Amino acid sequence: MPIDCEICGSARATVKASVDSVALNVCAPCSSTGKIIEQPRPAARQPVLQYIAPESGETVTENFGKIISSARQQMGLKQEELANRLSEKLPVIQAAEQGKRLDLGLARKLEKFLKIKLIEAE
Ligand SMILES: [Zn+2]
Repeated sequence: MPIDCEICGSARATVKASVDSVALNVCAPCSSTGKIIEQPRPAARQPVLQYIAPESGETVTENFGKIISSARQQMGLKQEELANRLSEKLPVIQAAEQGKRLDLGLARKLEKFLKIKLIEAE
């Protein structure tokens, strides 16, 4: 629940400030009257690990990021170039190489293009 600023009461408190050594929840403009002691932190982001396994029981091998990255480098391609060749967006390739996310459709394309093995049948 948002807390109203404890000084002006009209704006949403976004920072904790120490005013006359009292900790108050204040809005940004009012925080300049005191010393900011705590900035709200954005919620910690969990790394997204997503292995999409359809009914066939196919899964993407665990260390797919390293496999893709090294195969790409062996072909002398940059991430952008690989993305272009596969008609994929660069962040998709980056996420795959960082081991964050790889769906089976892209895995199949990468297997074919880089001549690597990424999909395991259970
Ligand atoms: Zn205020």
